[in-house]
Amino acid sequence: MPMSETGKKNKKYMYKKADLVAHCVDGEKWGRYPPCPVCQKKASLRVTYEDANHGGQGQWKCHGYWDSNIGGVVRCSFNYSEAAKSGAPQERPAWRHPGGEYSDDEQEDVNEGLDKPVTFPEGFGELPPMEMATEMIKICREHGLTVPKDDQLAMREAYVKIMASEDYEGNTDYVGAFGLLKEAYPKQTAEQKAGGPAPANADNAALCAALEAIFHAAKAANEDPMKASAYAKAAMSVRNLPYKVEDGIKMGKPGKMKVENIGPSLGAQIQYFLDHGKFERMEYYERGEIPPSAPKPPKKEKAPKA
Ligand SMILES: [Zn+2]
Repeated sequence: MPMSETGKKNKKYMYKKADLVAHCVDGEKWGRYPPCPVCQKKASLRVTYEDANHGGQGQWKCHGYWDSNIGGVVRCSFNYSEAAKSGAPQERPAWRHPGGEYSDDEQEDVNEGLDKPVTFPEGFGELPPMEMATEMIKICREHGLTVPKDDQLAMREAYVKIMASEDYEGNTDYVGAFGLLKEAYPKQTAEQKAGGPAPANADNAALCAALEAIFHAAKAANEDPMKASAYAKAAMSVRNLPYKVEDGIKMGKPGKMKVENIGPSLGAQIQYFLDHGKFERMEYYERGEIPPSAPKPPKKEKAPKA
């Protein structure tokens, strides 16, 4: 999709209305953008046309995709491939009209990675947005999506996605909205549930699994994404350690034992885990609450002067 100048500068997809219209015209004429041939992600390819006779083809690039586990964008190697360098044409699937039938590949798209196909009750499209959001969250939870635990927050998320899927005529693309929710709150994979990939040192398995678990719990509680992803990044670092973690404090402080992605606060949290077998903040996240910001240092009572 062509991006507005502001969008380009901010690396965010902020589209001007003119861009949206241009994109729709482009899509009507040449079809949708295909999924990336390398990373298979939908909506990650962009095309730059060479001239007016482009025929819907040009220089295709993959913008990579967001990996919620590391809280960062993963670059895609498609851009270095022969197909990308030579400007090989990409097959564009048919453009979808608002309110039109969903083609098979779109239905698959929505069901991808889920245990059972998603079905929307009859008349779902006619529900008022707030009711649709409530029902949508039920469907998300039924399929194990990691939407916020707090009902209000979850509903707000669904509402925003539903509104974003509305076209100029006010038709809601609720299947698309569900797709957006699925992307934002993906179902946990079996591996993630089990604590992520195996660590280099088996003695760190419990800590890695706990970091992975608190990451997901923090996300579900709508914790600040930076804070939540810090746990996933820490898990990644701990997994690579060849030795058994025995001192959380030293991991978070400059020095020989410093571990990448772990600062003083996380170090202290890890120490707490080593001492107690659980994270202090986990209880809050499990209730869908955000814990008080920083763990307070223990108060030292001044001895009264005699
Ligand atoms: Zn790609």
